[in-house]
This record gives sequence, structure tokens and C-alpha cells, in this order.
Amino acid sequence: MYKHTQESLAVQINNVSFQYGNQPVLENIDLTIKKGSFLGLVGPNGSGKSTLIKILLGLKKPMEGEVSLFNTPLQKFKQWEKIGYVSQKANSFNTGFPVTVYEVVSMGLYGKVGLLRFLNRKHKKQIHKALQRVGMSDFKDRNIGELSGGQQQRVFIARALVSNPEILILDEPTVGVDSSSVQHFYKLLTQLNQEKNITLLLVTHDIGVMTSYVSDVACLNKTLHFHGSSKDFEESDLSSLYGHDVQVITHDHGGAH
Ligand code: ADP
Repeated sequence: MYKHTQESLAVQINNVSFQYGNQPVLENIDLTIKKGSFLGLVGPNGSGKSTLIKILLGLKKPMEGEVSLFNTPLQKFKQWEKIGYVSQKANSFNTGFPVTVYEVVSMGLYGKVGLLRFLNRKHKKQIHKALQRVGMSDFKDRNIGELSGGQQQRVFIARALVSNPEILILDEPTVGVDSSSVQHFYKLLTQLNQEKNITLLLVTHDIGVMTSYVSDVACLNKTLHFHGSSKDFEESDLSSLYGHDVQVITHDHGGAH
């Protein structure tokens, strides 16, 4: 299905190790993410997932090993508009926060255009397109704090999409999203992956619903315990891969949306 050439790699992690003080957090991680794939990075709390993402984003420097993004070593990588990031804390706006959906999405362009008042017609079109893609156009003038967790998360995805990234990295995006909206949320991610050909890296400790949407799974717990197709992952013995830390969470999909 996917070509395994160097050119088709979005992310290449070679022998990466990291520690906080004396505490080893990542040990000898080798992981590649093919362009066009949808990878679920799973592991229990404290297994090093966020640290690995920070390394990918150039925010932490590994003690050992190499990282390349789109075949460019991280130290030389400059095309950050290719990388969209939705952080774990993205959905922490409270109801009193006075900012509209449109303004939140426009923040995705801040790095390029500075203040909102300098948005030109092209930027405005990009914002509308991103809102359309996530099905939130009708909510553009609403206060972000009035939306549900699932709706807010769509808006944060629009913010990440506004600069047309080639890869979208999502850190625990379903935290704060009610279980009846989780499936809709994963469907949106699948559409972005299949229709827009955006490579997806989804970080989660929830391995219940996720495995039926992703193409590949990587299991992290300081070292990489598994990396393969989601089908092989589902057929593998999860408890032996994870010890007792991780439970398979099943969602009740019968609730009202
Ligand atoms: P995960 O995202 O899988 O929950 P993290 O990468 O956040 O895991 O954390 C991995 C380990 O590193 C945990 O034991 C955590 O307590 C520790 N850790 C994370 N951030 C820091 C930090 N800034 N300083 C010291 N230890 C940290």
C-alpha cells in the first residue's frame, strides 16, 4: 500500500534516548512514520509519549540518537508549517474565556502574520476552509468556552490545519471529549488522513476505540514494545505487552450526541 522508500517517511527516529536528571524516560527508540499513515502511539501514563513528542517538535534534545522530519535532520529542519500540533491542554478553555471560534482558528496563522488585524483575504479563506473541514463553520462567531469538549477539539484541529500541515500530531485529543463524540472525532481524523492525505500521529493512553481507525500502532513504555499494523496489534497479547498498567477501555456508544 505504502512505498517504503526514504522519501515516503514523515518521521524517522533512530536510537533516541532521553532522561530527566538521572531518570531514564526513553531508551533506544527506533520509530518511523510513513507519509500518509495514521499511527496511534499508545502507552500508560508516564511511559514517555509526551517526551517523545517534545523531542519531535524540537522542544527537548535527546541525549542520544537522531530525529529527521521529512528527511531533514531536526537540527536543520525549518519547514515547521508542515507540522500541525494539537496539545494535550488545548481543550482547557473555560466558559468565561472571551474568544471566538474564528479567533482561535486564526491563531494558527500567528506565527506567519503576527496580529489578527493583519489577516488578508487569503488568510481569511484559509480560516474558513479549516473550519469547513472540521464541520464547525456555523460556530465561527461563538465563544469557544460555550462549546462541548468534542466541538472545542474540532476547533483546535482547525487551528492546526490552517497552515496546511502535512502531518498532524495530536497529544491525548480525546481527553475531555464525551464518549459518544469520540467516534465522530476519530471519523474526522480518518477523513483528514484519507481524503486530505495528512499523516497523523495520535498519542493516547486509550487503546479501546482508536485501534479500529489507525493504520499502525506503536506501543511505548520507556522502550518501544511494539510497532506494526493495527491488525497485528489487535491480534497480539496486549497484557503481555503492557503489564498491568493499561486497560482496554470500551466505550458506550449508545449515548446522545
Ligand atoms: P506520558 O506522556 O506517556 O504520560 P511523559 O513523557 O509525560 O509520559 O513522562 C515520562 C516520565 O518523565 C514520567 O515519569 C514523568 O514523571 C517524567 N517527566 C515528564 N516531564 C518531566 C519533567 N519536566 N521533569 C522531570 N520529569 C519529567
